[in-house]
This record gives sequence, structure tokens and C-alpha cells, in this order.
Amino acid sequence: MLTSGERSRCNPNETIRSWTLWTRPRPWIAVTLTSLTAAVALTVLSTVLVPVTLTELGIFGLLAGLAVAQTEVTRQIERQRRMLSHGPHITVTSVWLLPAALLTPPQLVAALGVVIYLYLAFRSWNGTRPGEGHRVAANATTMILSGFGATLAAELAGGQDVSTIVAAAFGYFVVNTALTGLGLYLAAPKTATPAHCLGGIDDNVLEAAILCVGGLLAMVITQQPLLSGLVILPLYVLQRSVLIKRLEELATTDQKTQLLNATTWQDGAQREISRAEREQGSFGALMIDLDHFKHINDTYGHLAGDDVLKAVAAVVKRETRAHDLVGRFGGEEFVALLPATSKEDAIVTAERIRQRISELVIPTRTNEGEAVAIERRTASIGVAAFPLDGGDIEEVMAAADAAVYVAKSKGRNRVVGSPAKATGGVPAASRPAGIGAAPTRPELVGV
Ligand code: GH3
Ligand code: MG
Ligand code: MG
Repeated sequence: MLTSGERSRCNPNETIRSWTLWTRPRPWIAVTLTSLTAAVALTVLSTVLVPVTLTELGIFGLLAGLAVAQTEVTRQIERQRRMLSHGPHITVTSVWLLPAALLTPPQLVAALGVVIYLYLAFRSWNGTRPGEGHRVAANATTMILSGFGATLAAELAGGQDVSTIVAAAFGYFVVNTALTGLGLYLAAPKTATPAHCLGGIDDNVLEAAILCVGGLLAMVITQQPLLSGLVILPLYVLQRSVLIKRLEELATTDQKTQLLNATTWQDGAQREISRAEREQGSFGALMIDLDHFKHINDTYGHLAGDDVLKAVAAVVKRETRAHDLVGRFGGEEFVALLPATSKEDAIVTAERIRQRISELVIPTRTNEGEAVAIERRTASIGVAAFPLDGGDIEEVMAAADAAVYVAKSKGRNRVVGSPAKATGGVPAASRPAGIGAAPTRPELVGV
């Protein structure tokens, strides 16, 4: 008796039907298979029509050798980058495919793409996980078609000069951005954002930098091929610095809302205290707690709750200045430190944030997949200031926290400023911690 796994291994039809590819959204499958067909057709056409010279074969061999060597050198870095990446994952493949597009016919560009991706899949990405093969094929297809885009742009530009290289790099960039963006959009259209599909400024600058190195490499290959190995060290440094930047991002931001995480916020607040003390200045601090947030989770599910958190985070960010410190303290609590701001002005900002949160309409889905719009959510906001309400960040935040508690007890959906003290702050240790620390005579500000 054969097991079902063994049966499908024996029967090619069943093997194909069991591919994870078919679990992806239909439009994504259609675009991926169309791209693959186009890449294969263009490669075959070029093989029939364009003869390959020995020099071109030599350039192909050189580029393949460099790509393999560079993959080996940056294997660990590439593996970690891929694990930690979000949005488009930018590889350095274009540094090899652009010179190939400029110096060899399309069939060798395609062959180079296949060699590079097979090598990357089995060495850098630790063997492609079962069911991941179609992703590698889709990425390789995108890169090969981008290479064809570069060839076409170079042909249109004509000649052999710098403008040809610039045109080829541009052609590569445009096709790559379009196909990658379309693929990411079609893979998850409901959650897709422009930043996710098209990458941020940093991602695009990185891709442009890699293409610049690719253009220089094309020139070196035609003039001094023996020097082409020098490209490996700058690429190594480039990839390492991108990984370090990503690790920094992960260590400092809250991944759900992209605000500062609690530790980074505290560090920034500590610096702000030092600065305010040095300059004898002041700052305002807001503690924002969403009202009856648990009810959202209970009614619509945690994912809908997450969408609300993201929308509120975006409001707080939008309604504060670029140099204000905005963080997520955990759960459904946000904090904002407004440098060089009086308590009265901080209260005005808090009131604006409260108003905007109450106006939010957040489209999301329940756990059952039903589309819903969550609206009329409210927040209670406590406001305190340095040095009025405390001599260190713990004291100031305890005062803001206590004001939140008062806002809750007064019926929620309001801003409360903590009552000013006559003489400096009470030491943190003598103050009841957390939200249960109700101050006396709160100053009720907004409703
Ligand atoms: P109150 O008006 O008194 O503040 O009530 P509340 O329901 O907002 O406060 P409570 O502290 O009772 O509940 C907070 C809830 O926030 C409980 C927890 O499950 C939820 N929560 C914490 N972190 C997250 C998160 O990251 N995502 C989601 N969806 N929910 C979270
Ligand atoms: Mg809370
Ligand atoms: Mg709450």
C-alpha cells in the first residue's frame, strides 16, 4: 500500500496539484505565470535569433563566478536580512544582471538569473523551505524580466556611452519596481500599503546604489576585467550596513504601530529631561489610554483590535510634531512627550488628539472575515509637565497616569491635566504606582 504522499510522488499530476503555489491568490498566480511564460518565451526567442560570442560567454562566466563568490561571503548576512525583512526584500542580484544586460544577449541574462537564484536559494536562504519554491521562481522571473527591461532601454538609448548605462539602470529599476510592487499588492491586496508594495525611500536608494555599482562594474569589465573582483568588498559592507539598520529599527520601534517602543521612549525622555534641566526649559507629557478597548477584541477579534491600535498610533503621530517623542507603552496605552511645551499647550494638543480619535472610522475584518467599520472609539488622556508635576520622568509620567485614572472615573473620553504641585515633584517611591494612583483635586479640562 502506498501512502498518499508516496502516491502523489509517483503521479506527476497529483504532485503538481499539491503545489503550495495554488494556495496563493488567483490574480497573483495569473501574473506570476504570465511573467514566467514571457521570460521563457523571450529567452527562447533570443536563443534562436541572437548568436553568443566567446567573449560574451566569458563575461557570463565571470559574472556568475563573482555572484557565487559574493553569495558565499555574505551568506550569514543575507540569511538574517531575509528573516528580518518586511516589504520588498532587496537582494544585490541587480549588480550582476545589469552588466549582463549591457554586455551579453538576453539568453545569458536569463541563465545568470537562474544560476544566481538557485545558488541563493540553496546556500543563503538555507535551502528553500517546502512550498517556497514558487516564491524563488517568481523573484528570479522578476529579476530576469528587469534585466530584459535594461537591455531594451540600452538598445533604445543606443551607443556604448554613459547614457546607455544610465538608461539600462533606469529600465531595470522601472520594471523591477513595477513587477515587485504588483506582486506584493496581489499577494495581499487588503493589507497592502504603498510603502509595503513600493518600499520606503531607504529601500529605493539601496536599489539605486546597487544599480550604480552594477553600472560601474560593467565599465570595469570592458576595461579591466581583472579588477572586477574589487566589487565584492563594497557590496559586503553595503549589505552589512543594511542589516545593522534593520536590527536597530527592530530594537527601537514597536512593530505593530511603528511608534517608539517603551525602552526607546524612556531613553529619549531621559535625554529630554537633561536638556530641559540644562536649559531650564519645560516639556509636556501625554498618557493616552483607549476606552473600553477590550470590548473591541471581544466583539471583533484581536486582529481588528490591532487595526484600531495602528489607526490611533497614526493619529497621535500626525497630530504631534516631528521632534515630539511618540511611543507605545504596551497594550492600548500611548505616550507623547512634547519638548519645549507648556502644560496648557500640551492640553490643547491632547484635546485635538482626543477629538481626532473620536472621529476615526477604521475599516477592518472580524475573525470570521466579515468587513466592518469600527467608529466612535474614544480615549482618556492624562497630561502632566516637567518640572511642574515632577522632577524626573517617572514622576511626570506617574502624574499623567494618575490624571488618566481621573479621566476614566469621570466617565472617559476626556483630557485631564494633573493638578500642579506647590513644590516640585513627590519622589516616585512615595507615589502609588500605576493607574490606581488618583491625585487629589484633578483639573478637568476637556470632554
Ligand atoms: P478602560 O476603558 O478602563 O481602559 O478599559 P480597557 O478595556 O481599554 O482596558 P483593559 O486594561 O481592561 O484592557 C486592555 C485590553 O487591551 C486587554 C488586552 O487584551 C488588550 N490588548 C493589549 N495589547 C494588545 C494588542 O497588541 N492587540 C490587541 N488587539 N489587544 C491588545
Ligand atoms: Mg490601559
Ligand atoms: Mg483602556
